[in-house]
Amino acid sequence: MLPDFVDSMVQLITKTSTDLPPDVRAAMALAVKNEEPATRAGQALTIIAQNIDQAAGCDGPICQDTGMPTFEVKVPVGTNQISLHQQIREAVAEATRRGKLRPNSVDSITGENSGNNLGPGTPIVHFDQWERDDIEVKLILKGGGCENTNAQYALPAELDHLGRADRTLEGVRKCVLHAVWKAQGKGCSPGAVGVCIGGDRTSGYLHAKEQLFRTLDDTNADPRLAEIENAVMDDANKLAVGPMGFSGKTSLIGCKVGAINRLPASFFVSIAYDCWAFRRLGVHVDARTGAITTWLYRDGTAPSQPMLAPELVAAGFPRTGREIPLQAPISEEQIRSLKVGDVVLVSGRMFTGRDAVHAYLMKHEPPVDLRGAVLYHCGPVVVKDNDGAWTVTAAGPTTSIREEPYQAEILKRYGVRAVIGKGGMGARTLAGLKESAAVYLNAIGGAAQFYARCIQRVTGVSLLEFGTPEAMWHLEVRDFPAIVTMDSHGNSLHKDVEEESGAVLETLRH
Ligand code: SF4
Repeated sequence: MLPDFVDSMVQLITKTSTDLPPDVRAAMALAVKNEEPATRAGQALTIIAQNIDQAAGCDGPICQDTGMPTFEVKVPVGTNQISLHQQIREAVAEATRRGKLRPNSVDSITGENSGNNLGPGTPIVHFDQWERDDIEVKLILKGGGCENTNAQYALPAELDHLGRADRTLEGVRKCVLHAVWKAQGKGCSPGAVGVCIGGDRTSGYLHAKEQLFRTLDDTNADPRLAEIENAVMDDANKLAVGPMGFSGKTSLIGCKVGAINRLPASFFVSIAYDCWAFRRLGVHVDARTGAITTWLYRDGTAPSQPMLAPELVAAGFPRTGREIPLQAPISEEQIRSLKVGDVVLVSGRMFTGRDAVHAYLMKHEPPVDLRGAVLYHCGPVVVKDNDGAWTVTAAGPTTSIREEPYQAEILKRYGVRAVIGKGGMGARTLAGLKESAAVYLNAIGGAAQFYARCIQRVTGVSLLEFGTPEAMWHLEVRDFPAIVTMDSHGNSLHKDVEEESGAVLETLRH
């Protein structure tokens, strides 16, 4: 047992969850600079930049989805890995108790949340030995929204808009572009991709995720792979998927490609998509004490460089004067007056609901009156203060498409007028919005600190037995900004951007 190791791991988890590394900050700062501030994409990026600074300033999670903690550990020969693994588990439970990680580990059959991020398979810890005297621990926190946009291709394959992808580097380029196009805003773009050429299905995904431990500004040592990385970066940003899929200049902030050997009969291209909330850090620790000796990816002695001037962070949502206030409960008339592209500021009561709540509402009456209500696809980080009152410490939107099988029915049955989420929804929901006079509002994915500050108080909670992320929280919000991306007249910005970027993809066949 190393006396300082648990504390070092808690520090690593806390810093990773709350403070983006300099290379990601630099890439996002460039994205902010390249976008016109008064556009949808510009407003989204300003919120993201504010959120990054707010999280670092208050040691709060950058995004409420603190993801699957994945540790890559290198130890001197002869180190007791069983003991280190146990101490990493202790650190994960402690960081969860402190609200730096959301309880994210659920039983795959019952859906029961373990409450402390521990369970079979969680956290993920990989050990390796090396010929050094100290220990290296790298950590990545990759959330569910971007994990769900991972992709794996078995070449040769026929791809929408791009035609055949052969077993060549050109075929690999097509696969990566296709994956970025398919992801649209669902993985909270602008994102970064780790790519593996080869391996089997399992090792391919693992190696793709390992590429995300490279810095965004490094250069691949293999010139053939460096060429692919540059080609993908150029082409992906021509797609104009943009921040959150709103259309815009930056769709991808990094592409890192590795290759491992494969069986002659297989040619897999595996793609690990990470969102703009690209949380990855590491440390070297003393192998006798467990104390941190060096931070990786960042200067451990200096504070992070802010994304924005402090007054811009304090100013909150960057208004253009065209924003439309929406007070819940919302009337049908107000909803029918909204159209795709409108920016709204929601105030009043809001209820959270994601997978478990939607499944529940398909079989049971709602625990609250949802007529005219705003339903927020969100699994917040919520902690109880010393007086027993609940406080939301992180509250960005979750990926809405998971609720596609249920949403239209829930709108119709219970009179919900607005659904807030991210990434958009499908044709069934679009038809449901029209029929039931409702709108879909896209909030900025990952902006958990920004949106937590729009919540004035928690007024109650229902269905807490589903665990804190899945419960229905009753919130009082003020000036909560979101963009109408699906209206009650059959229009969908997501559909438009997907079609427009698909047309660009056609031109990138080469
Ligand atoms: S930023 Fe988006 S994709 Fe990334 S973890 Fe948060 S919600 Fe998921």
